[in-house]
Amino acid sequence: MKTSPLAKPVFPTITLKPGREKSLLRRHPWIYSGAIAQLEGDPSSGATVDIRSAAGEFLARAAYSPVSQIRARVWTFDPAEDVDASFFRRRLERSISIRQALFSTLDPLRTAFRQVYAESDGLPGLIVDLYSGVLVVQFLSAGAEFWRKTIIPLLVELTGRDAIFERSDADVRSLEGLPSQVGPLNGAPPEKLAILENGLEFQIDLAHGHKTGFYLDQRLNRQAVRFLAKDRDVLDCFCYSGGFTLNALAGGARSVLSVDSSEAALVLCKENIAGNSLPMPNFTPLEGDVFVLLRKFRDENRSFDLIILDPPKFAPTAAQAEKAARGYKDINLLAFKLLRPRGHLVTFSCSGGVDAALFQKIVASAALDAGADACILEHLEQAPDHPVALHFPEASYLKGLVCLKS
Ligand code: SAH
Repeated sequence: MKTSPLAKPVFPTITLKPGREKSLLRRHPWIYSGAIAQLEGDPSSGATVDIRSAAGEFLARAAYSPVSQIRARVWTFDPAEDVDASFFRRRLERSISIRQALFSTLDPLRTAFRQVYAESDGLPGLIVDLYSGVLVVQFLSAGAEFWRKTIIPLLVELTGRDAIFERSDADVRSLEGLPSQVGPLNGAPPEKLAILENGLEFQIDLAHGHKTGFYLDQRLNRQAVRFLAKDRDVLDCFCYSGGFTLNALAGGARSVLSVDSSEAALVLCKENIAGNSLPMPNFTPLEGDVFVLLRKFRDENRSFDLIILDPPKFAPTAAQAEKAARGYKDINLLAFKLLRPRGHLVTFSCSGGVDAALFQKIVASAALDAGADACILEHLEQAPDHPVALHFPEASYLKGLVCLKS
């Protein structure tokens, strides 16, 4: 960045190819490398650049990411807004106040939620989750990484929380040319702690747990499962630490069979059941591959009243959608076969590359091939502390269906 005592800072500038300004005019915050005609200046990774149209008009101010296909991510569309500490203060204040407004009307029996959700909160690449007073932070873009020393003290000041743990180990960081980074960042965060969700206590391993430790996006969907579970035989596939399993038991399930390929996840699930004094005799953990076990159950003529399918991401981007579709179809088809009449299938996809309409088509074709008549009772999505900015539909990644077999 060049500065002079008189003028405002002059940023390096990206000029787009003709016609490539359209998505920015709709306030979509990504600039792909293929849209760029010219870069003036020599910005370092994460440094601020101005984006101009081919005609030279100012479009946005963004963070430069030299190795990513997404070559820049927009901080602001306002030519008068500088990207500095007070910019981050304003954005963080806004995201904190949005959550405060959300939770005054929601379940009070909850000590964990997403405080900052990246692009949806105008802070591309920054994720902040709060777990019982401890902040867990991911710097997932070159821009977020560039400003980390500004962001950390602001988080402490604005949230009033001192303990911060870093989990910058998501795959997307390597696409930005950034190394994985995990460990305490500020204060003295514990590696393990407990949270309350829907009034149930879950042990969280901040250092080794999935994502930032827990799948916070499923909070309300777990509650939906609780209300379906009474006196039912439940199969929870991909159970991890028991989010759905515990809610099914709390809802009065007759039995819950919980499957995961990770032994550590099943141990955590069992600990969580014990910690909430839920009826252990009604619970059976099973380590294995869901794709294999569903076939085995079919061959053994087993059946269930309620089946939950919450698999990991099969397709991060649209390019892998076809292969992902085969995976979703396979498990949903088998689940429809294992479902008793009037049984419920609660099925999810968290693949960004498979949208809600495609997912519904996949589930419909699975029911057809299973010979099952079924209807959709409810569409599910990520909890509202993971909001979707209207100009950034990519933020909507979790979709679910509650289906009833006739
Ligand atoms: N339902 C969970 C989150 C599921 S995350 C919750 O509410 O918290 C996906 C889980 O699937 C992970 O725990 C992972 O260990 C497990 N997994 C991934 N592939 C699997 C497979 N083929 N068979 C069984 N489990 C699998």
